Amino acid sequence: MTYDLIIVGGGPGGATAAKIAAEHNANVLVLEAAEEGRYKCCAGGIPIRNEEFSPIPNGVGDREITGGVLFTPKNGPMEFEASGKNNKGYCMFRTDFDKFLLDNAQDAGAQVIYRVRVKRIELAKDKGVKVIGMEEYQSKCVILATGLGGAQLQRSLGLEVPPMVGGIQAEISVPESNIDEEFGNRVWEFFDRDLIDHGIGWVFPKSQALSIGVLGKGIKMSHFNAFLKNPFIKEKIEGRKMKTFGGRKVWAAPIPDRMIANPYRDRVMVIGDACGTADPILYEGIYQARLSGKIAAEVFIQALGEEDFGESSLARYNELLLNNLYEEDLRYSYKFHHLLYHSGLLERIIEAAYSMAQDDPEMMQSTIALFTGSETRKHSWEVMMSRKWKLIKFLGLKNSIKLLPTLLHAVSI
Ligand SMILES: Cc1cc2nc3c(=O)[nH]c(=O)nc-3n(C[C@H](O)[C@H](O)[C@H](O)COP(=O)(O)OP(=O)(O)OC[C@H]3O[C@@H](n4cnc5c(N)ncnc54)[C@H](O)[C@@H]3O)c2cc1C
Repeated sequence: MTYDLIIVGGGPGGATAAKIAAEHNANVLVLEAAEEGRYKCCAGGIPIRNEEFSPIPNGVGDREITGGVLFTPKNGPMEFEASGKNNKGYCMFRTDFDKFLLDNAQDAGAQVIYRVRVKRIELAKDKGVKVIGMEEYQSKCVILATGLGGAQLQRSLGLEVPPMVGGIQAEISVPESNIDEEFGNRVWEFFDRDLIDHGIGWVFPKSQALSIGVLGKGIKMSHFNAFLKNPFIKEKIEGRKMKTFGGRKVWAAPIPDRMIANPYRDRVMVIGDACGTADPILYEGIYQARLSGKIAAEVFIQALGEEDFGESSLARYNELLLNNLYEEDLRYSYKFHHLLYHSGLLERIIEAAYSMAQDDPEMMQSTIALFTGSETRKHSWEVMMSRKWKLIKFLGLKNSIKLLPTLLHAVSI
């Protein structure tokens, strides 16, 4: 049998694409390497804008998040409370969220087969695609949604693989009542270049667990172990046990740093982390993976109608990705990324932005939006840049001289 579409990878990107394509009556197969209900190494912060794709029901979204606490070595806790319906999110286990999304895709008519690792993809000129795992499957078109686990598949098809950083995290068992009392509806974010150069640390409250991790360039177990010794964290986890998933307590996984230039070729589109769509300010990528999945599914539906899966037809995917994800958001995330992680002033900029926001509601809202995604990155950047002299004043003369070359570069991105 020949499927209209095979999606390789059943994470948020693949599941979203599968649901949309199946809703348009396409014959869709999802091949997922892991077993049903696998653990996924992820802090599980899901901004409310994920509901653009479908509502998140109670029971899947474990803990509603309405605020945050920022820490730098000198300052902290710097607390903020978000308001407004678009300024919130959830923290949840990806096991539940990803299963929920794949169940939705199945309800829409997509077929999902777990425990199939795709090893090879062969493109036969004008004859469709062969997708080879334990068995061989045929389709007219393929969406690669393999996260960063499909690099070899991408290379074999002549597609680029995004550059990446690493993340390490564990889930610590903590009774719900303690989490309610000590964290409530707030996530904690840590900015400390002595601990992690070019990266962040976090504590995200989930259901009966705290997700604690570090993420960045060249990340190692020593960074993670040092982070657990941070006095604010140590106090909260003393005597608590790490949860075990798949026989492991501490998990590591990569996350992309940059989008690839050409995420398509004839009969193939690449979405989500495999395409490098994650946002490198706080390195979240679930919403972006889903948006790229939605765009790819819509382009596929049009291509199916025209029976044209050639490279020029699928080029629409790249155009729409640039218009809908890059131009107003990722491009500006790269500017923020450069300013924060390449200036040597990460902690000072966070402290200055927080301080400036205290008596400046617009600045406060646009800073919160960096966490919640309630406004475009472009808007947050414009708000910040309209206050650049104030920022420079906050940073002081020596730091401002240090900042200038990075700022000029960031503006040019
Ligand atoms: C430590 C850490 C913390 C994070 N925290 C957050 C956060 O709080 N919020 C946020 O938004 N993002 C976060 N992210 C990023 C987020 O996890 C990713 O951006 C997101 O999962 C990307 O979704 P995806 O569908 O593209 O890929 P994935 O979720 O990685 O899904 C890819 C799927 O493809 C399957 N697969 C791979 N290769 C094959 C193959 N050959 N054959 C068949 N199946 C295959 C895999 O098993 C996997 O299920 C975090 C990442 C890390 C590493």
